[in-house]
Amino acid sequence: MRRKRAAAGQTAIRSGRRDPVRIIRDAVSLVCVLTVLVLFLYSKFTSRDIPAYSAENTLTVFFIDVGQGDCELILCGGHCVLVDAGEAEYGAKVVSVLRNLGVESLDCVVATHPHADHIGGLIEVLEYFKVGELLTPRLTENNIPTTRVYERFLEAARQSGARTVPAVPGDEREYGEIRFTVLAPLADEAADLNDMSAVLRLRYGGVSFLFTADAGKEAEDAMLDAGCELSADVLKVPHHGSKAANSERFLTAVSPRVAVVECGDGTEYHPHRDTMSRLTALGAEVYRTDMDGTVAVTTDGVNISVNKEK
Ligand SMILES: [Zn+2]
Repeated sequence: MRRKRAAAGQTAIRSGRRDPVRIIRDAVSLVCVLTVLVLFLYSKFTSRDIPAYSAENTLTVFFIDVGQGDCELILCGGHCVLVDAGEAEYGAKVVSVLRNLGVESLDCVVATHPHADHIGGLIEVLEYFKVGELLTPRLTENNIPTTRVYERFLEAARQSGARTVPAVPGDEREYGEIRFTVLAPLADEAADLNDMSAVLRLRYGGVSFLFTADAGKEAEDAMLDAGCELSADVLKVPHHGSKAANSERFLTAVSPRVAVVECGDGTEYHPHRDTMSRLTALGAEVYRTDMDGTVAVTTDGVNISVNKEK
């Protein structure tokens, strides 16, 4: 009986002490769990934003998913041009995507027109990166907005020290091998500010891209009537695919092989079904950022390859 009690007492003492082997085993398990968690969060918030692309002797345009808004990054041989950056809430995402792509400064930022879904995110971009030039349309009193986001954008532009250059039709811009022509705005002012959008046509070897921002039917007609060279292999579909733009005549003049719609979830107007069926009828491969996430279009000047985030 005495021996049994002693044995029971020994057991009680052992279980009350921390076993060093168990402590090490628990610590290793905790480190493993934390490592997996960190890797999961890293992949969720960084690499998933960027589809695969090749940087060797090519030009890539990233149509960055900023929900219902526009944002395109043109990368080529260490030079980069950013066209718009979505609403202000997307500024941090755009900065993060650019940093993950190794961007340290921007040759040019294009603010196509002063609507929040285009210039909002540019505030954070202008605060974070060194920017060489800020290309934006010259507006009359009738078109200059009085919104808070526009005031903040102007202040960020002023503080950034970027040289402001007016988007004048016919102007050729060149940043390394990134070369584009400004096609619009052709009018001095417009009833709808969207029709004052800066429109750019970029050429790389034999491949061309058309960036249309929110140009509507009036701006499309003005470009057609002025005889602008509109044909393009890759089209940033005007005004999020809206029916107020994307006339049959305009889309036929462009006749894109690849068309990218930058839009958010769930509106029946963006993109409008008429726009989608016109693009499909023209034989275009259509991508949309609400379904495909960020879309990367890479060209070597002859071939085009498309990769998408989702
Ligand atoms: Zn817009």
